[in-house]
Amino acid sequence: MFVEHSCLKCGYPLYDEVYDYSIRNHGFPLCRVCQCWLTNKTKATEYAKRLYLELKKRHVPVEIEKFDGHKTIDIAIPRFRINIEVDGSHHNIDSKQALVDLQRTKYSLEKGYETIRIPNSLIKDSLNQTADSLVVILKNRKKEMDDERLKSINIMELSPREVQLYDLLVDFLKWLYIVFEVDGEYTKTILENTGTEGILSDTYGNWANHEYMLTAFNKLTDYMQDNNIFESATPGLASDYEGFCGCSLGGFLERNRNSR
Ligand SMILES: [Zn+2]
Ligand SMILES: [Zn+2]
Repeated sequence: MFVEHSCLKCGYPLYDEVYDYSIRNHGFPLCRVCQCWLTNKTKATEYAKRLYLELKKRHVPVEIEKFDGHKTIDIAIPRFRINIEVDGSHHNIDSKQALVDLQRTKYSLEKGYETIRIPNSLIKDSLNQTADSLVVILKNRKKEMDDERLKSINIMELSPREVQLYDLLVDFLKWLYIVFEVDGEYTKTILENTGTEGILSDTYGNWANHEYMLTAFNKLTDYMQDNNIFESATPGLASDYEGFCGCSLGGFLERNRNSR
């Protein structure tokens, strides 16, 4: 391998010089573009960005500066229904700001999202412990969700094979919900520019939840193909044609199948 490292934020390959420079100056492996992003002023502060990178390092499916149709959330983890806001001291001192924060928390809770507020000082002095504590919270959340899954599997008395299909379907539906409901505003903006083709395209690197949705979709359709579920759902289609029909979805499935 010529290039051993990649950018923690965007995945771009990093030459050793860039890697060394970024670690030395910023503490994270970042490409030049993402180094600028870290230090330049955008919606999220550098504190929020540092916590985001620290969580990404721990393989948490996080998003930074996420617009929810109302306001930009500093750090969003839709998979676990948790938002993280990183606050400066004015959130504490300024009662107007505090009231806005409370209303935001209420709005998010109504959408099923809990908000965790982290003060800048904590990130400044104890970034690693902060990230570790958040990972523990997320692990507990994941366990709650896993327990819910087991409960519904037991209620429905599913066979092991049915459980496979259940998991694939639920995973896909969860991401579908995130992309079109939770991420609704963002998705709308992308689709206004790309048309419906954009849903199946994988060129929108920053649209992370959409990638998770496509991965879940691929796994589900693979399972359906392997188990002849397509054939029973669309009689004649799978056997009469060499591939799927000519619509966007059919083309996508075809390309995917050929690339395997
Ligand atoms: Zn980058
Ligand atoms: Zn079709």
